[in-house]
Amino acid sequence: MDLDTALEELSWIPRPRTLALRRLGIARVRHLLTHYPRRYENRLEFPSFPRDETVDPVCLCGDVVKTRLMRFGGRKIFEAVLEESSAHALSQPLTCRWFNLHYIQKIIATGQRLIIFGRVKRKGLRLVVDHPECEVIENDEEILIHFRRITPIYPATEGVSQRVLRGLIFRLLEQVDVALADVPLPASLGNSEDEDALRKIHFPESDEQLRKVRAHLVLGEFFRMQMQIAAARAQNSARIGSRHQTRGFLAEKFIAALPFGLTCAQQRVLNEIKHDLQLASPMNRLLQGDVGSGKTVVAIAAMLLAVESGSQAALMAPTQILAEQHYALLRNWLDPLGIRIALRTGARQEDNAQLPLFVGANLDSGSARVSRVDDGVAPSWTFPEVDKSPGALYSRRRLPHFQQPWAIYGVTISTKKHRCLSPKARTVVLDSLRYFHHERYELFAACVMPDHIHFLLQPWPKDRNDDVGNAVFWSLKELVHSLKSFSAHGINKLERTTGSIWGKEHFDRYIRSDRDLKEKFNYILRNPWEAGVAKQEEDYPWVWTQEDASRESAFRRDAETSTRDACATQIEVSSPARVDTDPQIIVGTHALLYQNVMFSNLGLAVIDEQHKFGVAQRAKLTAREPVPDVLVMTATPIPRTLTMTIYGDLEVSTIDEMPRGRGEIITHLLTTDKLGEAITFLRQELTAGRQAYIIYPLIDETEKLDAKAAAKEFEQWQERLGPFRCELLHGRVVPPDKQAIMQRFRAGETRALISTTVIEVGVDIPNATVMLIENAERFGLSQLHQLRGRIGRGAHTSHCWLVSSDKTPETMTKLAVLEKTTNGFEIAETDWELRGPGDLLGTAQSGLPELKLGDLRRDAALMRKARQATLKLFENDPGLDRPENQRFRDLIVERQGQTFSHVS
Ligand code: ADP
Ligand code: MG
Repeated sequence: MDLDTALEELSWIPRPRTLALRRLGIARVRHLLTHYPRRYENRLEFPSFPRDETVDPVCLCGDVVKTRLMRFGGRKIFEAVLEESSAHALSQPLTCRWFNLHYIQKIIATGQRLIIFGRVKRKGLRLVVDHPECEVIENDEEILIHFRRITPIYPATEGVSQRVLRGLIFRLLEQVDVALADVPLPASLGNSEDEDALRKIHFPESDEQLRKVRAHLVLGEFFRMQMQIAAARAQNSARIGSRHQTRGFLAEKFIAALPFGLTCAQQRVLNEIKHDLQLASPMNRLLQGDVGSGKTVVAIAAMLLAVESGSQAALMAPTQILAEQHYALLRNWLDPLGIRIALRTGARQEDNAQLPLFVGANLDSGSARVSRVDDGVAPSWTFPEVDKSPGALYSRRRLPHFQQPWAIYGVTISTKKHRCLSPKARTVVLDSLRYFHHERYELFAACVMPDHIHFLLQPWPKDRNDDVGNAVFWSLKELVHSLKSFSAHGINKLERTTGSIWGKEHFDRYIRSDRDLKEKFNYILRNPWEAGVAKQEEDYPWVWTQEDASRESAFRRDAETSTRDACATQIEVSSPARVDTDPQIIVGTHALLYQNVMFSNLGLAVIDEQHKFGVAQRAKLTAREPVPDVLVMTATPIPRTLTMTIYGDLEVSTIDEMPRGRGEIITHLLTTDKLGEAITFLRQELTAGRQAYIIYPLIDETEKLDAKAAAKEFEQWQERLGPFRCELLHGRVVPPDKQAIMQRFRAGETRALISTTVIEVGVDIPNATVMLIENAERFGLSQLHQLRGRIGRGAHTSHCWLVSSDKTPETMTKLAVLEKTTNGFEIAETDWELRGPGDLLGTAQSGLPELKLGDLRRDAALMRKARQATLKLFENDPGLDRPENQRFRDLIVERQGQTFSHVS
């Protein structure tokens, strides 16, 4: 038997037990042996029965001499009276009581020997123990396992009792060679090998031994983790990227033209990046810095280094708004340098390249609407070069039973019983379709007919990856479902009806080629006219394409860009001779990764807001050859221990200094009853020309927005702040409107934005100097810090008001941290202490093995030790070739299921 033996193979474990264990994810010997105790009870001795109350719980062994069950109304009390086995004149019996525990009376009976663990209290003349931990002893071997020792208590497991579990583990430890599980540690970790550690952690002989053995095992876990990280790192640096050798003229020019000088921290970080870029091995660097510390400037300079060396650079942001903002900024700063920049997001394709898909569409309809198609509406699309799935996927009236990532589908949904949708209802439907656009799917075209709808969409990956870090896509079924219920809800509300609106959907197309796409696209756009619902010259307002969105969008092309684009349209992109017209810098959302359209020569990819971006996505990026250099940026400061794990495979650069001349942010704590003070202050600031954010903690994306509550909130604020113009922003505002709202705020037309947390982290509006956060206690410290980072971006002193209705000391202490410091790293550390890593940890995204014993927070010192030992090991022997290092190879190979190429 070894550690990987399946428990089923062990005949002495009864079948029902293995089944129960399997449900808990315990299938192999290894799993059971690393099902570590949650805590221990000192059951070393059974003292004689106490004569009085005890302060600490005691462990006693006695015989059951009497039991009884009493009922008081609905309450049941079960009592068992214990007597010392060798009772003598002075012995006092002990009464154990259990309230409302139905099973206990079935377990305990007169005549049994019982071991109990609990605190003894005096009740009148009797000594009682309420709800003791108890175990019935059947033979003396049992005593050996469960008592007269420091006894392990395991995490609760359904269907397997403590005692059964303990017995199984005990027997298993006798049979298996536990030395196999011992992780070899380098001498520098100072903790000598302990081949018996696994046994001792379950059944330690003393507290001292337990402490040592735990440290040993935790180090083992951490060391293994760090070895895997280091190996990934070594593997990466063994790959071939391109050297970006430049004099750095462009970057210098750019920096010289900035209205400010770089901070020392920015300069230092830029040098680190420059150094990496010049190496042949691909860069893998994390740039962390607080919101507003000036990461973008550094990123731009880095991209210019790549551009000057003749490569393309890409800048990816997590959202459309941020991508647009970056694009505008880059145009502003880099146009004078003559850099060709392109924006590529689902909604806009803006640069000198024109996707030729619809340019030649032969449309003879005279409708103004339809002729717009000729303008070159170009959904971004992705087809594999070769269609790998020639089998017909064309099926009617059924959703495709298998789906491909990044596939495009044409769907039709009819109303129930051909119910006719009123014009208003049609608008609701169209809005619903647009609502999830860029959140869950890309919508290419949609048309709401009186009794059915057609649309063409491409599902997007969800925010979360699966366990192994692969992107998970929204399924068509989920999408159609939410679409139906979302719009039905809207229509019912509008028309004061109830019940279902929609009938069955027809899945009519899995789009397999440009021709399919074009055909379906045109079909949708022409449908109302072809079907005779609209006259040829008439407009039909419920037809939508992305072009409409960008026309409505606040981010309209400015005149200059349009002219440039108009000229550029003439250029043939596909011609390889035209390399010098390729964009040098491409800005987009993370969806850029999945579109094989654009990069001709990607040298550097900059990823903004790394925390929204999983390891798998990064891997996707670096899968291409030659491997581009990667710079990921995050404004979410994370504690140092976590940097060593989550981002352990990245080099880390930190901007730990704020630009000079930046207005200070003063943070005030306020209880709800003093809100008036803040309002007076707010009005003063608005009068002085500043702008404000009011943030309230309604809803995360999944929670349903109570639109009424938001509207009420908004009305109230409008009254408080009138006549200054306020606007409301929340998760249900459709993206184009959201952009328009942000644009009005940016332009200063709107003075106060009442908003949920939907405003993106990087939004940069220097004139906004006040932020008021309602129910601040509901946010985590780091989140509050992030929110606060949206002010303090100009020269004026900014103020952040944290309003809380919760006056408890815990809340106050927590919030007071923000009053004291604006250092994101300090806050992250405190936040971590206060509430544990939570989602911050994102181990699912890190792709690292789960820790079973080690606690990143409690054992931070051990993690540092493990990290240092690993770094040293790889530094001296990157291939693990030395004989004395052979024993470490298994640690790396195991996880990957294959040897790293450079190690062999
Ligand atoms: P981050 O992305 O780190 O949150 P940004 O790069 O958006 O920060 O910078 C925030 C603001 O600070 C921008 O308006 C930027 O122009 C400005 N800025 C950047 N570096 C400096 C500097 N060294 N001195 C003054 N202002 C700076
Ligand atoms: Mg930023």
